[in-house]
Amino acid sequence: MGVVPSTLAARSVDHDSGDRYATATSDPLETEKLLRDTADTLVKYLTSSNDVSAPVVKLSSPDSMASEFAAVGVPLELRDGEGPASGPELLTALETTLDLCVRTSHPFFLNQLYAGADRAGVAADWAVVAANTNVHTYEVAPVFTMVEQKVLQKLARVIGGRFQAASDGLFVPGGSIANTYAMHLARHRADSKANTRGMMGGPQLVAFTSEHAHYSYKKAAMLMGLGSDNLVAVACDAAGAMKPDALRSAMQKARVSGKIPFFVGATAGTTVTGAFDPFEALANEAEAEHAWLHVDGAWGGAALLSPTARIELMGGSARADSVAWNAHKLMGMPLQCSAFITAHLGALKECNATRAACLFQPDKLYGEYDMGDKTIQCGRRADAFKLWLAWKAVGDAGWAKRVDHAIKLAAHFESRIAGSEGAFRLAMPRNYANVCFWYVPPALHGSGDPAAYSAEDWEVLHAAAPALKAVMQKEGLAMIGFQPLMGLPNFFRIVFPSCFGTSIADIDLLLERIQVIGDAHYAN
Ligand SMILES: *Cc1c(COP(=O)(O)O)cnc(C)c1O
Repeated sequence: MGVVPSTLAARSVDHDSGDRYATATSDPLETEKLLRDTADTLVKYLTSSNDVSAPVVKLSSPDSMASEFAAVGVPLELRDGEGPASGPELLTALETTLDLCVRTSHPFFLNQLYAGADRAGVAADWAVVAANTNVHTYEVAPVFTMVEQKVLQKLARVIGGRFQAASDGLFVPGGSIANTYAMHLARHRADSKANTRGMMGGPQLVAFTSEHAHYSYKKAAMLMGLGSDNLVAVACDAAGAMKPDALRSAMQKARVSGKIPFFVGATAGTTVTGAFDPFEALANEAEAEHAWLHVDGAWGGAALLSPTARIELMGGSARADSVAWNAHKLMGMPLQCSAFITAHLGALKECNATRAACLFQPDKLYGEYDMGDKTIQCGRRADAFKLWLAWKAVGDAGWAKRVDHAIKLAAHFESRIAGSEGAFRLAMPRNYANVCFWYVPPALHGSGDPAAYSAEDWEVLHAAAPALKAVMQKEGLAMIGFQPLMGLPNFFRIVFPSCFGTSIADIDLLLERIQVIGDAHYAN
């Protein structure tokens, strides 16, 4: 143990102490200074991003951005023959970049299903970058391999049910990829020869998701050679949840035409309306057809962390064959931090392994811990480490509180909209942490329910959300997403990811801001 041959020990003494990776100049001290100054800059950036009085965004056009970089002496363009920049110039480039970034940690960045950056998660990601290793083999990433397993096991226990008895999983680059893994494993179960034979000449497989499901299911069908024609969009109820009866008849229809239903892609928290599919009923339908049930919990999986929300929203989800869970959404982990978890131990390797002899030698130390051959990638980031360190920092009870807080903010927002006497209107009742609403221009206050608007009023309301959004962006006041959906004119969808530090008073201030911006816009 630990015996170094004396010749090697002696040789290691006189190695060159210079920094092989010196960036700015050959001076290692200047490189070290760049790293220290960067750390200071990043800490300042993160702490100042919380301030409600600071702008969410300094809106820049591609042209104005180029001028800002040129003005500080570090043009965006990588000019041919350009010489090395100095350390201070590189720091200026970093500061200018951050200055022009959208401040996703700002309390009024409520634009997407991700926001902010959990501090422990950021610290962990810095460590991941500095360690710069690759979680394909235990050999090069021993700690991160074990960390990933521990986090996956924890998530499986949180899902519960059959996942407690057996589970397998991977951290993957996002929910879209997790959904792709699910469909791929499902196909392998339904047609184990597809990986070698291809889709031609095999059984005609059909997948089912709801009409509100994420578009990544369609991309997966395109990529896998299933074809998007073989992905059936099942009807939803008014909230945006899949109708089990509609699923049953869609699957029966496929059977009658000689096709095989192999995959049901359910959703926990649809992207726009935040709806949860009825998993218990969908599990019954999927089981009856021997189809794989996947729960896309990219947005809503976090509900499992709250004892109340999990009962209300996630019932039956543990009967699924697999779950996608984005810790980089409601849980506030820095992008990307996304898990794919299946209740079928060994299924990932069975489906994806190619046993590349250069990486996964069967006769090396601890090779049985290698995760790389379970993936469709080669190299992989140690994304699990962010969630591991954050979990240590937050704890189970802390996560429950955070999820409940996000839902509480959404519920408060909803009640303010409902009580606004016509200045705002709900596009539909709140689901989870999503509130879909309209700012109603003063001229339409007497027009009643937007669902019964005249074509003219419809157009006025349709134009309101993009107009207000543009003012909010230009003035850096807030960012909130909008879209048309279900035949409704453009409505805002506000969501509360990673809003653990946001207060009810902040939300009231936000609503006030929107009203002031809107009223000023329509007064002109
Ligand atoms: C965001 C989202 C996805 C995609 O996740 P990425 O990490 O962006 O790839 C999939 N499904 C749902 C429901 C989502 O909200």
